[in-house]
Amino acid sequence: MIVESKDEIKVNLEKVKFTKKLEKKIIKKLKKRLWELAKEYCRLKHGNICFTCGKKGLKGGNWHTGHFIPKKISSFIVDCNPSNLRPQCYNCNINLGGNGSYFYRNLLKEIGEICINALFLANEDKSKPSMSDYIAYINMYKGIINEIKMSKK
Ligand SMILES: [Zn+2]
Repeated sequence: MIVESKDEIKVNLEKVKFTKKLEKKIIKKLKKRLWELAKEYCRLKHGNICFTCGKKGLKGGNWHTGHFIPKKISSFIVDCNPSNLRPQCYNCNINLGGNGSYFYRNLLKEIGEICINALFLANEDKSKPSMSDYIAYINMYKGIINEIKMSKK
């Protein structure tokens, strides 16, 4: 057993605090990057048509990336999952709170019941994501964004 002196304990506690603070900072940046990529993918893949009301030509502040399972109740895995995100207009995403009934109907048509159930199941996993979870998700998005860009060339 290693016995630490009081000073050593204090130094080690400071190191832990510093490391946790740094980790928080890094995760904040990774979260931001992940969301940017999720949005980019959603736009490249699904275009600028509102998924729930069909409004065409969305742009700027009227071109949102809406969640099927709302952000407030979604787990990390589901929050940025490509199946959970679709383009929406401001009215559907904000005024109609995501326009859930139409979101469900259209998503059911597009990805089917099994994939929708898989999303709900994945949403049960409320474990806190680590830095490597974020990095893995970011790399996944980089891969699928590249695939789309290559196929459009
Ligand atoms: Zn809409």
